[in-house]
Amino acid sequence: MTSILNVENLVKRFGGLIATDHVSLEVKTGEIHALIGPNGAGKSTLINQLCGELTSDSGHIQLGGRDISHDSPEDRVHLGLGRTFQITSLLEDFTVRQNVGIAVQARDGGNLRIWDRVTKRRALWDEADARIADSGLASRADTLVADLSHGEKKQLELVMALAGKPRLLLLDEPMAGLGHAESQEMIGLLDSLRGHVSMLLVEHDMDAVFALADRISVLVYGQILMTGTADQIRNDPRVREAYLGGEDELC
Ligand code: ADP
Ligand code: MG
Repeated sequence: MTSILNVENLVKRFGGLIATDHVSLEVKTGEIHALIGPNGAGKSTLINQLCGELTSDSGHIQLGGRDISHDSPEDRVHLGLGRTFQITSLLEDFTVRQNVGIAVQARDGGNLRIWDRVTKRRALWDEADARIADSGLASRADTLVADLSHGEKKQLELVMALAGKPRLLLLDEPMAGLGHAESQEMIGLLDSLRGHVSMLLVEHDMDAVFALADRISVLVYGQILMTGTADQIRNDPRVREAYLGGEDELC
């Protein structure tokens, strides 16, 4: 099995704090790899280093065998690195369909011009419609984003990220703020993508992690404590200790 992501000895310092402390991590092609750890462990920092929003102090990041450590965030997107859009980047006064159309268009390189062929426009909207039909938002295509529930907005973020056709999708807490039913829907949506897109999934909801992850890495104080299957993680005393002072909550 090849790997889509290889992180080697990655470091990020904020003043005297080492937020990412020589992290090495591999995501195999097709894998859903969860990254868990207590608050402040450095999960979001690592995601931001991977997508290029934060510059690393040292170490290397390879995407599909290519070193992207020094590429801009935009170049990383073009090389196949996707991350969920933040809710704040959704266009509230536009419909779901328009938002997805814009994401498809962005991937294909900018603005459609007035003289662009009708067929090209039709292809764009056909793709947007197909992506919406495959999501949980099929009945909401013509709804303004402002009128969506929080859970629907999180789904829309994911649909828009997928419109970029990423090879690896970085997800920072996609279940945050979702109710039980909405979480279940998001889990179903992510599960349906298994094998089509590799994922690095940061998530606190352990039900979601155990339902989705092929492998799990545990980050504590900026260091990878261990990587393993759900069973290995669940039964590891160091993981329990790191999370709960030994209490049994990881189930
Ligand atoms: P997590 O996502 O696991 O909760 P973060 O990556 O947000 O953790 O934070 C890791 C550590 O780095 C924390 O101690 C946090 O306070 C610190 N940190 C994160 N971003 C910054 C920043 N921009 N400046 C200074 N310290 C930061
Ligand atoms: Mg975080």
